[in-house]
Amino acid sequence: MNEQGMLAVVSGFSGAGKGTLMKELLKRYDNYALSISATTRSPREGEADGREYFFVTEESFRDMIEKDALIEYAQYVKHFYGTPKEYVLNQMKQGKDVILEIEIQGALKIKERFPETILIFVMPPNAEELKRRLIGRGTESMEVINARLKRAAEEAEGMEAYDYILINDKIETCVEAMHQMIQVQHNRASNN
Ligand code: 5GP
Repeated sequence: MNEQGMLAVVSGFSGAGKGTLMKELLKRYDNYALSISATTRSPREGEADGREYFFVTEESFRDMIEKDALIEYAQYVKHFYGTPKEYVLNQMKQGKDVILEIEIQGALKIKERFPETILIFVMPPNAEELKRRLIGRGTESMEVINARLKRAAEEAEGMEAYDYILINDKIETCVEAMHQMIQVQHNRASNN
């Protein structure tokens, strides 16, 4: 059996409820590790450095790019986001399936570099719900919310690159579905 873990990319519109899904998945199963990205955006209320993200300056971010410390990075509505390499590779070596919660440009780069990666796109039950969740979060201005909704519409065009589209209506069923999807791919990759 192949002990090496694989990567699972989870993308989806900002406000689709990915964060809650990921938290629940990690709570239930111990074969997963969650990658923590570096970002140049400021922390939202309730976010902590090293927990949701590593919040860094643009200068430090560029430094990471130069030192080849990121597996991938992308720009999303004015800010940079990137996946630190060392943690992800170490966790894979230890047999963990590593979840990357990243947007589509990053997802495509990861798939190119690690072809066995599974790509999952999480959708909110409907557009109204998406807007309601974004506004309800109360952490962004309408300008930022609108920029994010516009970006969401653009991302929808790239959805066909994903292996699965998961409608996030009931958390319970979604977490189990996601676990099954990743395990099927894990077993497929191990048997190759
Ligand atoms: P947010 O600001 O809402 O936390 O994240 C904005 C977008 O950036 C989300 O779609 C999120 O998945 C994506 N993102 C977070 N970390 C990374 C990363 O390391 N790389 C890439 N490419 N996208 C990321």
